[in-house]
Amino acid sequence: MSPATGSQSSAPLVTTKPPFGCAMLLMDLFRSYLHQHRLPVTHQREAIAMALFESEHQLSVDDLAERLRERGEHVGKATIYRTLSLLVQADLARELDFSEGFKRYEHQAGEAKHDHLICTGCGKVTRFTRQALDDLQERIAAEAGFAAQSRRLKIFGLCRECQAAAASGVAQGRREAAGAQAEAAAGGGRG
Ligand SMILES: [Zn+2]
Repeated sequence: MSPATGSQSSAPLVTTKPPFGCAMLLMDLFRSYLHQHRLPVTHQREAIAMALFESEHQLSVDDLAERLRERGEHVGKATIYRTLSLLVQADLARELDFSEGFKRYEHQAGEAKHDHLICTGCGKVTRFTRQALDDLQERIAAEAGFAAQSRRLKIFGLCRECQAAAASGVAQGRREAAGAQAEAAAGGGRG
């Protein structure tokens, strides 16, 4: 058996059009971002974000307001502006200026292959890219004759800060337990 050479490059391995799953992944990341920054996950914020995540176009605030209206969501432009600014800060959307006198926005899915480390302690999401993972993905897809569109790799665990917090809690617990044992031993020795 000869190993895959990766020469099957005629089929696009990553398309710029994310499948529906990507909008859901972006929404997960947005909720994590809001949670991490102690901001409420409101229905309006979710509706605005979803309208952008599901679109393949570069949308203005007016475009978004219209799309939301079509869905029966009545959201003020100020709220749309603020939510878009949060999405940009969260690195889930990009602001574009085509010198039209207003800004346009597009979501960040499918821009680059990247994966996520998600802290189950504090909700922090860290993006990373690793060429070796991309190479492996292409090899696996090529071997299966598969045209990959996206990948969802989420590594769940505790970030450095949460580990430190947990460790100091454990150390505190150990000290208390050790103290109790020492007392018990001392008490036992006397008896
Ligand atoms: Zn954490």
